[in-house]
Amino acid sequence: MRGIALLGSTGSIGTTALRVIDRQRDRFRVAALTAFANTELLEQQASRFQPSFVGLVRNGTEHNSRWQTGERCLVDAATRDDVDIVLNAVVGAAGLDATLAALEAGKRVALANKETLVMAGDLAMAAAKRGGGEIVPVDSEHSAILQCVTGRQAGDIRRVILTASGGPFRAWPAERLARATVEDALHHPTWTMGRKITVDSATLANKALEVIEAHYLFDLPYDRIEVVVHPQSVVHSLVEFVDGSVLAQLSAPTMELPVLYALTHPERVPDDGVRPFDPVACSPLTFEPVRYDQFPALRLGVQAGRAGGAAPAVFNAANEQAVALFLEGRITFVDIASAIDSALETLGDTASGSREALLAVDAEARRHVRRLFSC
Ligand code: NAD
Ligand code: MG
Repeated sequence: MRGIALLGSTGSIGTTALRVIDRQRDRFRVAALTAFANTELLEQQASRFQPSFVGLVRNGTEHNSRWQTGERCLVDAATRDDVDIVLNAVVGAAGLDATLAALEAGKRVALANKETLVMAGDLAMAAAKRGGGEIVPVDSEHSAILQCVTGRQAGDIRRVILTASGGPFRAWPAERLARATVEDALHHPTWTMGRKITVDSATLANKALEVIEAHYLFDLPYDRIEVVVHPQSVVHSLVEFVDGSVLAQLSAPTMELPVLYALTHPERVPDDGVRPFDPVACSPLTFEPVRYDQFPALRLGVQAGRAGGAAPAVFNAANEQAVALFLEGRITFVDIASAIDSALETLGDTASGSREALLAVDAEARRHVRRLFSC
Protein backbone atom coordinates (compact mmCIF):
# COMPACT_ATOMS: atom_id res chain seq x y z
CA MET A 1 0.00 0.00 0.00
CA ARG A 2 1.54 3.33 -1.04
CA GLY A 3 0.58 6.48 0.84
CA ILE A 4 -0.45 9.55 -1.14
CA ALA A 5 -0.49 13.18 -0.05
CA LEU A 6 -2.92 15.00 -2.32
CA LEU A 7 -2.27 18.74 -2.30
CA GLY A 8 -5.11 20.77 -3.81
CA SER A 9 -7.67 18.00 -3.34
CA THR A 10 -10.73 20.16 -4.00
CA GLY A 11 -9.68 21.40 -7.45
CA SER A 12 -10.21 19.90 -10.88
CA ILE A 13 -7.14 17.63 -10.82
CA GLY A 14 -7.62 16.94 -7.10
CA THR A 15 -11.16 15.62 -7.52
CA THR A 16 -10.15 13.66 -10.64
CA ALA A 17 -7.29 12.09 -8.68
CA LEU A 18 -9.61 11.01 -5.87
CA ARG A 19 -11.82 9.19 -8.38
CA VAL A 20 -8.77 7.31 -9.66
CA ILE A 21 -7.41 6.56 -6.17
CA ASP A 22 -10.84 5.33 -5.09
CA ARG A 23 -10.83 2.76 -7.91
CA GLN A 24 -7.25 1.80 -7.02
CA ARG A 25 -7.79 1.56 -3.27
CA ASP A 26 -6.06 -1.87 -3.13
CA ARG A 27 -2.82 -0.13 -4.13
CA PHE A 28 -3.02 3.36 -2.68
CA ARG A 29 -4.10 4.99 0.54
CA VAL A 30 -4.83 8.69 0.95
CA ALA A 31 -2.49 9.64 3.79
CA ALA A 32 -2.95 13.42 3.59
CA LEU A 33 -5.30 15.92 1.98
CA THR A 34 -4.93 19.68 1.69
CA ALA A 35 -7.16 22.36 0.19
CA PHE A 36 -7.13 26.13 0.01
CA ALA A 37 -10.53 27.21 1.35
CA ASN A 38 -13.28 24.80 0.29
CA THR A 39 -13.97 23.39 3.75
CA GLU A 40 -17.23 21.72 2.81
CA LEU A 41 -15.75 19.55 0.05
CA LEU A 42 -12.60 18.90 2.09
CA GLU A 43 -14.75 17.64 4.98
CA GLN A 44 -16.59 15.25 2.63
CA GLN A 45 -13.32 14.00 1.17
CA ALA A 46 -11.78 13.55 4.61
CA SER A 47 -14.73 11.57 5.88
CA ARG A 48 -14.68 9.33 2.79
CA PHE A 49 -10.89 8.68 2.60
CA GLN A 50 -9.96 8.96 6.31
CA PRO A 51 -6.48 10.49 5.82
CA SER A 52 -4.18 10.78 8.83
CA PHE A 53 -3.55 14.46 8.04
CA VAL A 54 -5.83 17.21 6.75
CA GLY A 55 -4.59 20.71 5.98
CA LEU A 56 -6.43 23.92 5.15
CA VAL A 57 -4.26 26.69 3.71
CA ARG A 58 -6.54 29.62 4.45
CA ASN A 59 -6.64 30.68 8.07
CA GLY A 60 -9.74 32.17 9.59
CA THR A 61 -12.27 29.90 7.86
CA GLU A 62 -14.44 27.84 10.18
CA HIS A 63 -13.16 24.28 10.06
CA ASN A 64 -12.74 20.94 11.76
CA SER A 65 -10.51 21.46 14.81
CA ARG A 66 -8.30 18.47 13.95
CA TRP A 67 -7.11 20.10 10.74
CA GLN A 68 -3.83 21.96 10.45
CA THR A 69 -4.24 25.45 9.01
CA GLY A 70 -1.93 27.87 7.23
CA GLU A 71 0.44 27.63 4.27
CA ARG A 72 2.80 25.37 6.17
CA CYS A 73 0.33 22.48 5.92
CA LEU A 74 1.44 21.85 2.32
CA VAL A 75 5.05 21.11 3.28
CA ASP A 76 3.96 19.17 6.38
CA ALA A 77 1.65 16.97 4.31
CA ALA A 78 4.31 16.44 1.64
CA THR A 79 7.05 15.31 4.01
CA ARG A 80 5.16 12.88 6.26
CA ASP A 81 6.65 9.43 6.86
CA ASP A 82 3.46 7.67 5.74
CA VAL A 83 3.60 9.46 2.36
CA ASP A 84 5.36 7.85 -0.63
CA ILE A 85 3.82 9.95 -3.40
CA VAL A 86 2.97 13.64 -3.29
CA LEU A 87 0.38 14.53 -5.90
CA ASN A 88 0.82 18.27 -6.22
CA ALA A 89 -2.40 19.61 -7.75
CA VAL A 90 -2.10 23.12 -6.34
CA VAL A 91 -2.34 25.90 -8.91
CA GLY A 92 0.49 28.39 -9.27
CA ALA A 93 3.66 29.37 -7.44
CA ALA A 94 1.97 28.52 -4.11
CA GLY A 95 2.96 24.88 -4.74
CA LEU A 96 6.70 25.57 -4.85
CA ASP A 97 7.81 24.82 -1.30
CA ALA A 98 5.88 21.56 -1.12
CA THR A 99 7.46 20.30 -4.36
CA LEU A 100 10.96 21.19 -3.19
CA ALA A 101 10.43 19.71 0.28
CA ALA A 102 8.98 16.47 -1.09
CA LEU A 103 11.89 15.99 -3.51
CA GLU A 104 14.35 16.77 -0.75
CA ALA A 105 12.59 14.13 1.42
CA GLY A 106 12.98 11.49 -1.30
CA LYS A 107 9.33 11.30 -2.36
CA ARG A 108 7.87 10.76 -5.79
CA VAL A 109 6.20 14.00 -6.84
CA ALA A 110 3.33 13.38 -9.24
CA LEU A 111 3.37 16.91 -10.60
CA ALA A 112 0.31 18.67 -11.97
CA ASN A 113 1.57 21.98 -10.57
CA LYS A 114 3.77 22.77 -13.59
CA GLU A 115 4.31 26.38 -12.41
CA THR A 116 6.72 24.95 -9.82
CA LEU A 117 9.09 23.56 -12.45
CA VAL A 118 8.87 26.65 -14.61
CA MET A 119 9.64 28.95 -11.74
CA ALA A 120 12.39 26.90 -10.15
CA GLY A 121 13.37 24.06 -12.48
CA ASP A 122 17.04 24.14 -11.47
CA LEU A 123 16.22 24.14 -7.76
CA ALA A 124 13.72 21.29 -8.16
CA MET A 125 16.21 19.16 -10.10
CA ALA A 126 18.92 19.84 -7.50
CA ALA A 127 16.51 18.99 -4.64
CA ALA A 128 15.60 15.70 -6.35
CA LYS A 129 19.27 14.82 -6.78
CA ARG A 130 20.12 15.63 -3.17
CA GLY A 131 17.12 13.97 -1.57
CA GLY A 132 16.57 11.06 -3.97
CA GLY A 133 13.08 12.21 -4.96
CA GLU A 134 11.70 12.07 -8.49
CA ILE A 135 9.23 14.08 -10.54
CA VAL A 136 6.68 12.18 -12.60
CA PRO A 137 4.47 14.45 -14.71
CA VAL A 138 0.67 14.53 -14.46
CA ASP A 139 0.39 16.97 -17.36
CA SER A 140 -1.07 14.89 -20.20
CA GLU A 141 1.53 15.94 -22.79
CA HIS A 142 4.46 15.05 -20.55
CA SER A 143 2.81 11.86 -19.43
CA ALA A 144 2.50 10.94 -23.12
CA ILE A 145 6.18 11.67 -23.71
CA LEU A 146 7.21 9.72 -20.62
CA GLN A 147 5.12 6.76 -21.77
CA CYS A 148 6.81 6.90 -25.20
CA VAL A 149 10.39 7.19 -23.90
CA THR A 150 10.27 4.84 -20.92
CA GLY A 151 12.82 2.09 -21.53
CA ARG A 152 14.77 4.18 -24.07
CA GLN A 153 18.08 6.04 -23.70
CA ALA A 154 18.22 9.85 -23.73
CA GLY A 155 20.35 9.64 -26.90
CA ASP A 156 17.52 7.84 -28.75
CA ILE A 157 15.33 10.96 -28.84
CA ARG A 158 15.62 13.40 -31.75
CA ARG A 159 12.80 15.75 -30.70
CA VAL A 160 9.49 15.87 -28.90
CA ILE A 161 6.35 17.46 -30.30
CA LEU A 162 3.86 18.75 -27.75
CA THR A 163 0.28 18.90 -28.93
CA ALA A 164 -1.90 21.92 -28.10
CA SER A 165 -5.68 21.99 -28.48
CA GLY A 166 -5.39 25.61 -29.62
CA GLY A 167 -7.95 26.63 -26.99
CA PRO A 168 -11.26 28.41 -27.58
CA PHE A 169 -9.69 31.10 -29.81
CA ARG A 170 -7.81 28.80 -32.18
CA ALA A 171 -9.55 30.13 -35.26
CA TRP A 172 -10.44 33.66 -34.07
CA PRO A 173 -9.15 36.61 -36.11
CA ALA A 174 -7.04 39.26 -34.31
CA GLU A 175 -9.85 41.90 -34.19
CA ARG A 176 -12.17 39.47 -32.43
CA LEU A 177 -9.47 38.36 -29.95
CA ALA A 178 -9.14 41.95 -28.76
CA ARG A 179 -12.78 41.77 -27.62
CA ALA A 180 -12.66 38.27 -26.04
CA THR A 181 -14.50 38.14 -22.71
CA VAL A 182 -13.78 36.11 -19.58
CA GLU A 183 -16.70 33.88 -20.46
CA ASP A 184 -15.28 33.27 -23.96
CA ALA A 185 -11.86 32.40 -22.51
CA LEU A 186 -13.34 29.98 -19.98
CA HIS A 187 -15.15 28.04 -22.68
CA HIS A 188 -12.51 25.40 -23.49
CA PRO A 189 -13.39 23.11 -26.42
CA THR A 190 -11.95 19.81 -25.12
CA TRP A 191 -10.96 20.00 -21.41
CA THR A 192 -12.77 20.99 -18.20
CA MET A 193 -10.15 22.48 -15.87
CA GLY A 194 -9.57 25.14 -13.23
CA ARG A 195 -10.02 28.77 -14.29
CA LYS A 196 -6.34 29.75 -14.36
CA ILE A 197 -5.17 26.92 -16.62
CA THR A 198 -8.23 27.41 -18.84
CA VAL A 199 -7.21 31.02 -19.48
CA ASP A 200 -3.60 29.84 -19.99
CA SER A 201 -4.90 27.47 -22.65
CA ALA A 202 -6.67 30.34 -24.39
CA THR A 203 -3.53 32.56 -24.49
CA LEU A 204 -1.27 29.51 -25.16
CA ALA A 205 0.80 30.58 -22.12
CA ASN A 206 0.01 27.06 -20.92
CA LYS A 207 1.96 25.62 -23.84
CA ALA A 208 4.93 27.84 -23.03
CA LEU A 209 4.83 26.56 -19.43
CA GLU A 210 4.75 23.05 -20.88
CA VAL A 211 7.74 23.61 -23.19
CA ILE A 212 9.77 24.74 -20.17
CA GLU A 213 8.40 21.81 -18.16
CA ALA A 214 9.53 19.40 -20.92
CA HIS A 215 12.97 21.00 -21.00
CA TYR A 216 13.49 20.16 -17.32
CA LEU A 217 11.71 16.81 -17.17
CA PHE A 218 13.40 15.28 -20.18
CA ASP A 219 16.63 17.30 -20.11
CA LEU A 220 16.10 18.47 -23.70
CA PRO A 221 17.40 21.67 -25.30
CA TYR A 222 14.68 24.06 -26.49
CA ASP A 223 15.41 23.51 -30.18
CA ARG A 224 14.33 19.88 -29.75
CA ILE A 225 10.91 20.75 -28.28
CA GLU A 226 8.21 21.72 -30.76
CA VAL A 227 4.51 22.50 -30.57
CA VAL A 228 1.75 21.57 -32.99
CA VAL A 229 -1.95 22.38 -32.77
CA HIS A 230 -4.18 19.31 -32.58
CA PRO A 231 -7.75 20.43 -31.87
CA GLN A 232 -9.18 17.02 -30.91
CA SER A 233 -6.83 16.49 -27.88
CA VAL A 234 -6.58 12.76 -28.57
CA VAL A 235 -2.88 12.54 -29.47
CA HIS A 236 -1.33 13.79 -26.23
CA SER A 237 2.16 14.33 -27.68
CA LEU A 238 4.68 12.72 -30.02
CA VAL A 239 8.32 11.66 -29.76
CA GLU A 240 10.59 11.36 -32.78
CA PHE A 241 13.51 9.00 -32.33
CA VAL A 242 16.92 9.25 -34.02
CA ASP A 243 15.95 6.68 -36.68
CA GLY A 244 13.00 8.88 -37.74
CA SER A 245 10.32 6.72 -36.14
CA VAL A 246 7.60 8.64 -34.26
CA LEU A 247 5.66 7.30 -31.30
CA ALA A 248 2.58 8.96 -29.82
CA GLN A 249 0.26 8.24 -26.92
CA LEU A 250 -3.48 8.47 -27.52
CA SER A 251 -6.61 8.40 -25.42
CA ALA A 252 -9.89 10.24 -25.06
CA PRO A 253 -9.26 13.59 -23.35
CA THR A 254 -9.36 12.63 -19.68
CA MET A 255 -6.87 13.47 -16.93
CA GLU A 256 -7.64 10.18 -15.16
CA LEU A 257 -5.08 8.32 -17.26
CA PRO A 258 -2.11 10.64 -16.72
CA VAL A 259 -2.95 10.82 -13.01
CA LEU A 260 -3.01 7.02 -12.78
CA TYR A 261 0.20 6.65 -14.77
CA ALA A 262 2.01 9.20 -12.58
CA LEU A 263 1.15 7.03 -9.57
CA THR A 264 2.17 3.69 -11.13
CA HIS A 265 5.01 4.55 -13.60
CA PRO A 266 6.78 2.57 -14.98
CA GLU A 267 4.14 -0.08 -14.34
CA ARG A 268 0.68 -0.21 -15.85
CA VAL A 269 -2.21 -1.43 -13.76
CA PRO A 270 -5.69 -2.49 -14.82
CA ASP A 271 -8.31 0.26 -14.59
CA ASP A 272 -11.71 -0.03 -16.17
CA GLY A 273 -12.89 3.45 -15.22
CA VAL A 274 -11.33 5.26 -18.17
CA ARG A 275 -13.52 5.83 -21.21
CA PRO A 276 -12.64 3.20 -23.89
CA PHE A 277 -10.72 4.44 -26.93
CA ASP A 278 -12.60 4.41 -30.23
CA PRO A 279 -10.46 5.47 -33.21
CA VAL A 280 -13.45 5.86 -35.49
CA ALA A 281 -15.45 7.98 -33.05
CA CYS A 282 -12.53 10.37 -32.54
CA SER A 283 -11.74 10.72 -36.26
CA PRO A 284 -10.55 12.73 -38.00
CA LEU A 285 -7.37 13.63 -36.15
CA THR A 286 -5.90 16.84 -37.54
CA PHE A 287 -2.74 18.91 -36.99
CA GLU A 288 -2.03 22.59 -37.76
CA PRO A 289 0.81 25.02 -37.21
CA VAL A 290 0.70 27.37 -34.20
CA ARG A 291 -0.40 30.96 -35.04
CA TYR A 292 2.43 32.54 -33.08
CA ASP A 293 1.52 36.10 -34.13
CA GLN A 294 -1.97 35.78 -32.60
CA PHE A 295 -0.78 34.14 -29.38
CA PRO A 296 2.39 36.02 -28.34
CA ALA A 297 2.42 34.49 -24.84
CA LEU A 298 3.74 31.22 -26.29
CA ARG A 299 6.75 32.80 -27.97
CA LEU A 300 7.45 35.02 -24.93
CA GLY A 301 7.41 32.03 -22.61
CA VAL A 302 9.72 29.95 -24.78
CA GLN A 303 12.09 32.93 -25.07
CA ALA A 304 12.06 33.21 -21.28
CA GLY A 305 12.86 29.50 -21.02
CA ARG A 306 15.79 29.88 -23.41
CA ALA A 307 17.05 32.97 -21.55
CA GLY A 308 17.10 31.01 -18.28
CA GLY A 309 18.06 32.71 -15.00
CA ALA A 310 14.98 34.20 -13.39
CA ALA A 311 13.23 34.83 -16.74
CA PRO A 312 10.94 31.76 -16.52
CA ALA A 313 9.92 32.80 -12.98
CA VAL A 314 9.17 36.32 -14.25
CA PHE A 315 7.12 34.87 -17.10
CA ASN A 316 5.18 32.67 -14.70
CA ALA A 317 4.52 35.35 -12.09
CA ALA A 318 3.54 38.02 -14.62
CA ASN A 319 1.19 35.54 -16.25
CA GLU A 320 -0.38 34.48 -12.93
CA GLN A 321 -0.95 38.10 -11.94
CA ALA A 322 -2.30 39.12 -15.36
CA VAL A 323 -4.65 36.15 -15.52
CA ALA A 324 -5.99 37.01 -12.05
CA LEU A 325 -6.65 40.61 -13.19
CA PHE A 326 -8.29 39.36 -16.39
CA LEU A 327 -10.56 37.03 -14.40
CA GLU A 328 -11.49 39.98 -12.15
CA GLY A 329 -12.53 41.90 -15.26
CA ARG A 330 -9.83 44.56 -14.79
CA ILE A 331 -7.78 44.00 -17.95
CA THR A 332 -8.52 42.64 -21.43
CA PHE A 333 -7.52 39.31 -22.89
CA VAL A 334 -4.74 40.77 -25.05
CA ASP A 335 -3.40 42.72 -22.04
CA ILE A 336 -2.24 39.40 -20.57
CA ALA A 337 0.50 38.95 -23.19
CA SER A 338 1.41 42.67 -23.05
CA ALA A 339 1.84 42.39 -19.29
CA ILE A 340 4.14 39.39 -19.66
CA ASP A 341 6.14 41.18 -22.35
CA SER A 342 6.57 44.28 -20.20
CA ALA A 343 7.57 42.30 -17.09
CA LEU A 344 10.15 40.30 -19.04
CA GLU A 345 11.48 43.48 -20.64
CA THR A 346 12.06 45.02 -17.19
CA LEU A 347 12.97 42.02 -15.03
CA GLY A 348 13.92 39.25 -17.46
CA ASP A 349 17.67 39.67 -16.93
CA THR A 350 17.52 39.11 -13.18
CA ALA A 351 19.89 36.35 -12.07
CA SER A 352 18.23 33.43 -10.29
CA GLY A 353 19.89 31.32 -7.63
CA SER A 354 18.20 30.72 -4.32
CA ARG A 355 14.54 30.09 -3.53
CA GLU A 356 14.50 33.49 -1.78
CA ALA A 357 15.81 35.24 -4.91
CA LEU A 358 13.12 33.55 -7.02
CA LEU A 359 10.36 34.48 -4.58
CA ALA A 360 11.60 38.09 -4.61
CA VAL A 361 11.55 38.28 -8.41
CA ASP A 362 8.13 36.58 -8.44
CA ALA A 363 6.77 39.28 -6.12
CA GLU A 364 8.44 42.04 -8.15
CA ALA A 365 6.95 40.74 -11.42
CA ARG A 366 3.47 40.70 -9.86
CA ARG A 367 3.93 44.29 -8.59
CA HIS A 368 5.16 45.33 -12.04
CA VAL A 369 1.99 43.99 -13.68
CA ARG A 370 -0.32 45.61 -11.11
CA ARG A 371 1.44 48.97 -11.54
CA LEU A 372 1.22 48.68 -15.32
CA PHE A 373 -2.58 48.66 -15.08
CA SER A 374 -2.79 50.84 -11.94
CA CYS A 375 -4.38 47.96 -10.03
P1 NAD B 1 -8.15 24.29 -9.79
O1 NAD B 1 -8.25 25.76 -9.73
O2 NAD B 1 -9.35 23.49 -10.11
O3 NAD B 1 -7.56 23.74 -8.41
C1 NAD B 1 -6.50 24.35 -7.79
C2 NAD B 1 -6.25 23.76 -6.41
O4 NAD B 1 -5.21 24.52 -5.81
C3 NAD B 1 -7.45 23.82 -5.49
O5 NAD B 1 -7.57 22.59 -4.84
C4 NAD B 1 -7.10 24.89 -4.46
O6 NAD B 1 -7.57 24.52 -3.19
C5 NAD B 1 -5.58 24.88 -4.48
N1 NAD B 1 -5.01 26.20 -4.23
C6 NAD B 1 -5.29 27.36 -4.88
N2 NAD B 1 -4.54 28.36 -4.39
C7 NAD B 1 -3.79 27.83 -3.41
C8 NAD B 1 -2.83 28.38 -2.53
N3 NAD B 1 -2.50 29.67 -2.53
N4 NAD B 1 -2.24 27.53 -1.66
C9 NAD B 1 -2.56 26.23 -1.63
N5 NAD B 1 -3.46 25.65 -2.44
C10 NAD B 1 -4.07 26.46 -3.32
O7 NAD B 1 -6.97 23.98 -10.83
P2 NAD B 1 -6.67 22.62 -11.62
O8 NAD B 1 -7.26 22.69 -12.97
O9 NAD B 1 -6.98 21.44 -10.76
O10 NAD B 1 -5.09 22.75 -11.82
C11 NAD B 1 -4.18 22.45 -10.79
C12 NAD B 1 -2.77 22.38 -11.38
O11 NAD B 1 -2.73 21.30 -12.32
C13 NAD B 1 -2.36 23.63 -12.16
O12 NAD B 1 -0.99 23.84 -11.99
C14 NAD B 1 -2.63 23.26 -13.60
O13 NAD B 1 -1.81 23.95 -14.50
C15 NAD B 1 -2.31 21.77 -13.59
N6 NAD B 1 -2.97 20.99 -14.63
C16 NAD B 1 -4.33 20.90 -14.67
C17 NAD B 1 -4.95 20.16 -15.65
C18 NAD B 1 -6.45 19.99 -15.69
O14 NAD B 1 -6.95 19.26 -16.55
N7 NAD B 1 -7.21 20.60 -14.82
C19 NAD B 1 -4.17 19.49 -16.62
C20 NAD B 1 -2.79 19.61 -16.56
C21 NAD B 1 -2.20 20.35 -15.55
MG1 MG C 1 -1.14 19.88 -20.54
